[in-house]
Amino acid sequence: MSAFSLTIGGKPATVASTFNVVNPADESVVAACPSGTAGLVDEAVASARAALAQWSAQSDSYRAEMLLAIANLIEQHHEELSRLITREQGKAQSGPGANYEVGGSAAWTRATAGLSLPDETIQDDSKGRIVVRRKPVGVVASITPWNWPMIIAVWHIAPALRVGCTVVIKPSPFTPLSTLRLVELMNQVLPPGVVNVVTGDGDVGTHLVNHPEVDKVVFTGSSVTGKKVMAGAAETLKRVTLELGGNDAGIILPGTDIEPLLERLFWGCFINAGQTCAALKRLYVHSGQYDQVVERFAAYIARVPVGDGLDPRNLIGPVSNRMQFDKVVAFVEDARRSGARIVVGGEPKDAPGYFYPLTLIANATDAMRVVKEEQFGPVIPLLRYETVEEAIERANSLDVGLGGSVWGNDPNEAARYAGRLECGTAWVNQHGALHPLAPFGGVKCSGIGVEFNVDGLKEYTTVQVVNVAL
Ligand code: NAD
Repeated sequence: MSAFSLTIGGKPATVASTFNVVNPADESVVAACPSGTAGLVDEAVASARAALAQWSAQSDSYRAEMLLAIANLIEQHHEELSRLITREQGKAQSGPGANYEVGGSAAWTRATAGLSLPDETIQDDSKGRIVVRRKPVGVVASITPWNWPMIIAVWHIAPALRVGCTVVIKPSPFTPLSTLRLVELMNQVLPPGVVNVVTGDGDVGTHLVNHPEVDKVVFTGSSVTGKKVMAGAAETLKRVTLELGGNDAGIILPGTDIEPLLERLFWGCFINAGQTCAALKRLYVHSGQYDQVVERFAAYIARVPVGDGLDPRNLIGPVSNRMQFDKVVAFVEDARRSGARIVVGGEPKDAPGYFYPLTLIANATDAMRVVKEEQFGPVIPLLRYETVEEAIERANSLDVGLGGSVWGNDPNEAARYAGRLECGTAWVNQHGALHPLAPFGGVKCSGIGVEFNVDGLKEYTTVQVVNVAL
């Protein structure tokens, strides 16, 4: 028995087995989670398909009201959801952590309720009338990662519901519990079958992506898996939105007064222990102030409390799972062997939990794995540059492009350079800030399509032109 259940067709589903969800802070079992199967995916897709006609025929204002009701439910269960996220994912209650994630989930749901996609009249004269309509794409399969499990679920589900789609979501097996609870709460107000949830690993995900009754896949996860999802979706020409990995560069312009920027620089790199798609993952610093920036940033980092996220004194929790922890260890060791200097951190304690210390790597080079590949951990490599042109070229040299940032005393000058970064969002004197009305997505291998605002809503629709001759 589990306190958590899959929701299919508005009801808890019967499952044959469970798997344990582990708390990364102490490796204890948070809960037994019901295991999804391909058969349960079939049931969930059938439920979503059955609910589609009625849900898509509801008035626009009714669906907006439903989203507002969901936002209220998230707020009413804020504390429960926030603690659950910390226990299954690790992020701290304090700082931009689990409370921030739940608050953001309610805020995004509310903002999505306020959006609309009215018909657009292209021509209306004596000859005829041409109207462009946006119709719901149909049944949406949503697949989510383990780093921000609840808010990413909301980013997928809310716009889909807003335009009249129905949903089957599959969360990451590392962090399924907050999504199970979220969908259970949504089903308190939604008609049965509108949102369904099935757990499982990549095989269950593949079955969902390949399902002929699914019309669209929205996937957030690694670029490697994203490519497989796109290939699977091609069989029935499903629409896809892919929000994939990044390896965001930041450039500190020569002569920048670093002291007032340290706090924002810190959160840009280390939010959620660096396990954020659009976190700053490689920082380019001019040689004229390289040593000073290394020293000031390292001193700042060393003061930030890391520990069990449930303790409100801690601002950063553990790495979220063993697989990711091992990856971070390997990347830092590779940098050390290749001649980098570990200025702070770099030595995990031999204790329960997947705690990796906040780590600053100096004398990093573009050839090191920690720079070339997405390390996704509490580690920041600092790279030396001589000219801004060279820094921009190196920042743009990878095959990913989610975010990027430029830091400087003159924000307008920095914004001009930021505009030359090859990425979906270019920040100035900050990194990673999102807004529900600012479209978010990646270029190159960081993704296809965007989320948020009207551009995000359109991703859940197909275009129909009604062309009337008079
Ligand atoms: P992942 O690609 O390993 O897994 C993501 C999800 O896909 C999980 O639910 C997993 O079970 C499922 N999955 C695995 N194989 C599958 C397959 N063949 N078919 C269908 N589903 C499959 O990613 P992760 O390790 O959970 O998440 C970390 C990655 O996500 C990082 O690369 C990060 O940058 C990225 N990410 C991107 C964004 C964004 O908005 N661009 C946001 C958050 C995370």
